[in-house]
Amino acid sequence: MKHLPVFLDIKDQPVLVVGGTVMAARRWATATSAGARVRVVAPKLSAAFEDCPEVVHEAKAFEESDLDGMHLVFAATGEEEEDVRVSALARKKGVAVNVVDRLDLCSFVMPSIVDRSPVVVAISSSGDAPILSRLLRAKLEALLPSGLGRLANFAGSCRQQVNSLITDPVRRRRFWERIVGGPAAEYVLAGQQEAADELFDKTLEAECRDQELPVQGEVYLVGSGPGDPDLLTFRALRLMQQADVVLHDRLVPDAILDLVRRDAERVFVGKKRGDHVLAQEDISQMLADLARQGHRVLRLKGGDPFMFGRGGEEIEVLADAGIPFQVVPGVTAANGCAAYAGIPLTHRDHAQACIFVTGHTKDGKLDLNWHSLMQPNQTVVVFMGLGALVNVAGQLVEHGANPDLPAAVVDNGTRERQQVVSGTLSDVADRVAKAEFEGPAILIVGTVVTLRDKLSWFAPPASDDAAAGFLSGRASDDSN
Ligand code: SAH
Repeated sequence: MKHLPVFLDIKDQPVLVVGGTVMAARRWATATSAGARVRVVAPKLSAAFEDCPEVVHEAKAFEESDLDGMHLVFAATGEEEEDVRVSALARKKGVAVNVVDRLDLCSFVMPSIVDRSPVVVAISSSGDAPILSRLLRAKLEALLPSGLGRLANFAGSCRQQVNSLITDPVRRRRFWERIVGGPAAEYVLAGQQEAADELFDKTLEAECRDQELPVQGEVYLVGSGPGDPDLLTFRALRLMQQADVVLHDRLVPDAILDLVRRDAERVFVGKKRGDHVLAQEDISQMLADLARQGHRVLRLKGGDPFMFGRGGEEIEVLADAGIPFQVVPGVTAANGCAAYAGIPLTHRDHAQACIFVTGHTKDGKLDLNWHSLMQPNQTVVVFMGLGALVNVAGQLVEHGANPDLPAAVVDNGTRERQQVVSGTLSDVADRVAKAEFEGPAILIVGTVVTLRDKLSWFAPPASDDAAAGFLSGRASDDSN
């Protein structure tokens, strides 16, 4: 190891920053956030210091006596000679010194930091590859839940109590492993503090009585987005990695299922119109039963679980049965498809409102409020099976909509097989028929659709199938 990693307690200690550059302002911020009393010496401060409240600044050139009594000194003057002078004098006086971007002038280096205070991860490449440290940092930022600090505070606040009640260190370690790696921690991370406190007390009581507490299961109702795995939220991914069982349906593609913990049991619950492997009530019941058996159950739903996904109904059953659950939103197909098709759902010149609808076919008829769909300056997004979608376009015209109103259908939105056809209410059905879509597909109606000509950006790599379709004369993208 080139450097000794340490975490210094510099609370209320004097620290000097020499220089008024942007980097000097950053050093000021870092030292200040660790509670140091920071003094800045520089003839002038750059605009970056405007964001540094109550900065103690002496507008003058650096002199040796500025180092008196300092714990640390940071130099970022922007002038090589001055940096060299600060470093030499600091070393002579035995004050630890860091010079921005000059490893050779440093007696200590500043790591890249992932701050989940009180948990702090510091990464260093010993000054050799700062970019690598930054990349690692970005990975860790994505990996570590934002509530990690809360979890550490929670554990810290209970530590004394646990120390006094569980004296055997081995048992104590096991107890903490159960808390920090189990449902109590998940409650803290999800912001369910009361439930966390309750479970903690129960677990501690059982441990003190030497009782085995039944394992408590829970349900995570998670939106997986419209298909591109990159659109998953950090929380979705974390819960996918810790679930014991996953219930998924047709809207969740393999690319996303592959990210679920490898040894989790996978249950396909179907759901395609007229092709339900399990009835809705059975799915809800299954979630409840699995949780009661102590499993961490992941209910993975396409898009957002509260957007036409019957997610609400599924957790109502859990709420009635007193089974703990949490809900993780996802990017709904409406936003995902619109973004990947280059169609802004609202736009100052086109639409100030957007309406999301779905409707079931009753006796061959669509159950929609046609009047509400035909308001001016409004975008309409229709979630439905492919067959019904084109029917909606036709029926809108029958109910009085302008047949020239722009309309687009996005098939397999955000996925590698995404296809889009755009046209008007009167011809979109024909265009869709030619394109041989496979679904899921969504209909977007409104003049915002015309913006696609300029804003379309997503060009998925042609898959073998898409290429075959192209060769056989099948449309593989816009047919207009
Ligand atoms: N909860 C989901 C919607 C479930 S309803 C969400 O928030 O997205 C199912 C309908 O969503 C499908 O019939 C289709 O209209 C739409 N849909 C879902 N994923 C889609 C995708 N990747 N591309 C196009 N439409 C999609």
